[in-house]
Amino acid sequence: RGLPSYVLGGGSNVLAADDGYAGVIIRMNVPGIAEEAVAEDAARLIAGAGVSWDTLVAEAARRGLWGVENLAGIPGTAGAAPVQNIGAYGTELSGSLEWIDAVPAAADRVERLAAAELALAYRDSRLKREKGWTVLRIALRLRRDGAPMLAYRDLASRKEAGEPLRTPAEVGRAVREIRAGKFPDLSVSGTAGSFFKNPVIRSAEAKALAERYPGLPVYPADEETSKVSLAWILDCVLDARGLSVGGARLFERQPIVIVAGDGATAKDVELLAETVARRVEEATGISIEREVRTLA
Ligand code: NAP
Repeated sequence: RGLPSYVLGGGSNVLAADDGYAGVIIRMNVPGIAEEAVAEDAARLIAGAGVSWDTLVAEAARRGLWGVENLAGIPGTAGAAPVQNIGAYGTELSGSLEWIDAVPAAADRVERLAAAELALAYRDSRLKREKGWTVLRIALRLRRDGAPMLAYRDLASRKEAGEPLRTPAEVGRAVREIRAGKFPDLSVSGTAGSFFKNPVIRSAEAKALAERYPGLPVYPADEETSKVSLAWILDCVLDARGLSVGGARLFERQPIVIVAGDGATAKDVELLAETVARRVEEATGISIEREVRTLA
C-alpha cells in the first residue's frame, strides 16, 4: 500500500514522536542461534535478528567462546547490534562480526554482506546511514582461546580486588553487575541508554580542553583524534546531573543517559537534548552528536 515502514529491534535506542508513526512498525522476531565450527580455535555463532543480544552473549559464554563478553547486558536485539556497531568496555561488535544477511530497501532478495562492507565505526555503520536495510541474521566469529579485556577502570578495579575474571561467563557476569549499578533499568524507566556519543575531536583541541578543565578524561582514538568523556563534561564542567525538562532528566549516576520519568513526552526529551547540546557547545566548543535515532 506504499506505507512507510520501520523495523524495530528491542526499541532500546529510538525516540518515538509524541504523535506516533504514520506507517507500519515491523517487530523483528527471527529466532535461533546455531554454532558452526570454523577452526580448532574458533567458532561461528549465527543468530536470528530477533534474538535478544544479551541471550546471544550468554550463549557464547556458555560455549566458552570469547569476543563479546564485554558487551554483556546491552539491551536490544542481535539484528540491531551491527546498526550502531554496539560497543562497551573496550570491545566493539566489529571485533567479532563476520557477516550479516539483510534485505536492501524495497528489494525482495537477501544479500550476504561481509563486516568489511558495513563501514563499522564508533557507534556507526552503513546500515545506520542508508535507510531501509532489514537485517535478518548475523554471524559472529568467536575464539576458544581468548583472553579477558579488562582495560576499562570498572573492570580493572574488580580484577585488582581479586575477583576471578578468567572466563567469558565470569567477565560477562561482572559487566552485567557493573551496568546494573550504573545505568537505569530499561524495564522500569523509559531510557535509550547513552543519548549522545562521546565526542571524538582533534587531539590538540582535546589537550587544550584538558588544560582548561584538569581531570577531563581523554583517550587517543587514532593518530589525530581523541575521545573525551561527555559524562565528565556534563558532570564536572556543567554540573548537569539530574538536569530536567518536564519529565525527562539526565540520569544522576551517569548523565550521558536520559531517563523519561512518569508523564515525560518526547518533546521534553528533545528539549532537554537541545539544551544539553547548546550548553556543551558554549562551554567547550564541541558540537555533540546523538546516538539515539528518532522514529518519526
Ligand atoms: P566510562 O567507563 O565511565 O567511560 C567514559 C568514557 O571514557 C567513554 O567515552 C569511554 O569510551 C571512555 N573510556 C573509558 N575508559 C577507557 C579506556 N581505558 N580506553 C579508551 N576509552 C575509555 O563509561 P560508562 O558510561 O561507564 O560506560 C561503560 C561502557 O559501556 C562504555 O564503553 C560505554 O560506551 C558503554 N555504554 C554504552 C551505552 C549506549 O547506550 N551506547 C550505554 C551504557 C554504556 P567508549 O564509550 O568508547 O567505551
